[in-house]
Amino acid sequence: MKPAKDWKIEILAVGSELLTPHFQDTNSLYLTKRLNDLGLDVQIKTIVGDQWDNLCLAFRQILARTDLMIATGGLGPTKDDRTREALASVLDRKLLFRDDLLRAIERRFSSRQMKMPEVNKKQAYLIEDAVVLENKNGTAPGQWIDTGSDTVILLPGPPHEIKPMFENYVWPRLQAFQNRYIYRRVIKTAGLTESQIETYLGDLYPKILEVQLTTLASPGQIAIHLKSSSDKSISQAKHKVGQAIKLICDALEKGVYSTEGEELEEVIGKYLKKKHQTVAVAESCTGGFLGHRITNVSGSSEYFLQGILAYSNTAKTDLLGVSPEIIDKYGAVSPQVALTMATGIRERANATYGLSITGIAGPSGGTKEKPVGLVYIALAHDQDVLVKKNLFLGDRNAIKFQSSQKALDMLRRHLSGTSQS
Ligand code: AMP
Ligand code: MG
Repeated sequence: MKPAKDWKIEILAVGSELLTPHFQDTNSLYLTKRLNDLGLDVQIKTIVGDQWDNLCLAFRQILARTDLMIATGGLGPTKDDRTREALASVLDRKLLFRDDLLRAIERRFSSRQMKMPEVNKKQAYLIEDAVVLENKNGTAPGQWIDTGSDTVILLPGPPHEIKPMFENYVWPRLQAFQNRYIYRRVIKTAGLTESQIETYLGDLYPKILEVQLTTLASPGQIAIHLKSSSDKSISQAKHKVGQAIKLICDALEKGVYSTEGEELEEVIGKYLKKKHQTVAVAESCTGGFLGHRITNVSGSSEYFLQGILAYSNTAKTDLLGVSPEIIDKYGAVSPQVALTMATGIRERANATYGLSITGIAGPSGGTKEKPVGLVYIALAHDQDVLVKKNLFLGDRNAIKFQSSQKALDMLRRHLSGTSQS
């Protein structure tokens, strides 16, 4: 048999509901994570509906090209659940009735003082020569089948059933083949464009040949995923990733806000806690989203004092002390208003930092002078007020997210002592 690191591995998710917009194939995410933890890479994932012909076609195609296949779903008692039958047919193996399996299913029902419905009987059939993978949380047992050339693992669909089955019965069997260790980390950046990052990283690639880098960009943040593997030990894989992280952080400097995959709100939370400082926010176009993000972090009550959602001009005046003259003269979306919103909330909340956001989230409301995406963000502290003009692209949600991201990043840069002015 090939060494496990060279296996072709595929996951097949069975279920017509997974081909509608209402259900997601989350099983394959979990399985991929756990296979990766064992040093095994997944090459292809497939989703197939419950139709017999499609199911057989999927099994035939995958068996022809793979070494290990894990299929989930379609082991239930209803007519449309035919994973077991389709695989038996494709492998040309019999389905054998197992009395012990039937009794286990009957016991599950009787423990709830119910009689087993006749339809559940089909779950007591095992593909010839398969090994049973016990299911303590449901009626469908899993099956482990060696075809001589391939291994096929059948697991039921419900996520709470497959997880303990995988951990208890599949993991130890696969672990016996383990001969590679994989380590992953995620670096997160803000305030840098994808092309800037690419330019910085371009020079580093030759130095970090043994670490695979994948850059994932979304408006407001770019994540760099690092992955390394070792045939010897996990610490060797960790060491390679650690060296790459150091080189990347040196190159991207203050652009990096986490090397642990954290969110910006978590990072600022750690700083504020450590420094025993506090923050309060005044928001207009983000509608409370900044406060929502900050308070998503458990323990944020230690440093988050208050948020004011001042959408109308009157609210900005009444709640934050922005003078009507300033609004008249410069407009609600202006550096002057952002500045007074930030100082206003800082003073009213008696916080170390005041953060404010005022802008045009669109899609309507933009003008030539003040287009959609124009957002002023201010950070007030005891020494100064920093105001930034931004022109964000995207829809309303994207502009709200980028605004909150920029506000958090301004605070983060200040807290880390790398504030730009
Ligand atoms: P089944 O074994 O096909 O009867 O599936 C039973 C339940 O598991 C259904 O509620 C499915 O929506 C759910 N399920 C099946 N496959 C998946 C999957 N790949 N990811 C998440 N849930 C699933
Ligand atoms: Mg199903």
